[in-house]
Amino acid sequence: MSECLRILQLYPRAMNIYGDWGNTLVLARRAQEHGLPVELLSYNEGDSFPSDVDLIVGGGGQDSGQDVIQDDLLGIGGQLRDLAADDVPMLVICGLYQLFGHFFRTQDGHTIKGIGVLDLETHAGETRLIGNVVTTSDQFGDIIGYENHSGQTFLGPQVQPLGTVVAGAGNNEKDATEGARSREVIGSYLHGSLLPKNPAIADHLIATAATRRFGSFTPRPLDDTLAVRAREIARRLPR
Ligand code: GLN
Repeated sequence: MSECLRILQLYPRAMNIYGDWGNTLVLARRAQEHGLPVELLSYNEGDSFPSDVDLIVGGGGQDSGQDVIQDDLLGIGGQLRDLAADDVPMLVICGLYQLFGHFFRTQDGHTIKGIGVLDLETHAGETRLIGNVVTTSDQFGDIIGYENHSGQTFLGPQVQPLGTVVAGAGNNEKDATEGARSREVIGSYLHGSLLPKNPAIADHLIATAATRRFGSFTPRPLDDTLAVRAREIARRLPR
């Protein structure tokens, strides 16, 4: 068993838009600053799926990128469902968030199948939802980011929303929900990337992964001055 916290980035080649790779960098850097040794892994189509993974991160992508990974993702879907059932923490953004649900019906009318880790489905809407987003959540306070998606996601009864929309669209134009949570899996539409401006979510993922791996986790106080400033500025940006 590894002495390191093993962080796996899914499909960095096809699914990494609007700087989503930044989420992985934040997790690695903050984990190190909390005193944890880290090993960064990546998984692209055709690779063999690594063992002993502690934290899984995935980004967004164009519909064409989602088409590229669809078959491969369905192939590793069983492993990802097992890891989710075993409470491995995961953060998936936009395009992979959609494909962690049941399916995404695209603007041109074809269906990209998902792996059903999250109980939700996505249908392309008439308009693209683009702009800055602010949501509120009980656990993480305000969650701030940027969205750009055609898909509108509707949550089933097995998931809870990540946040309630204050500005922007979030999951869809109708119900003011943003993102989804089930067990330790978090899905969200928010790019930016998300974690530099929302360190509470980063530390939650790290704490969950570290406690699961090492039996305990003691956070160190980190200097979040830049994150606090970025949050203040982002909160004032027009939609
Ligand atoms: N292609 C998907 C959509 O348009 C996801 C976009 C994204 O990841 N930003 O809804």
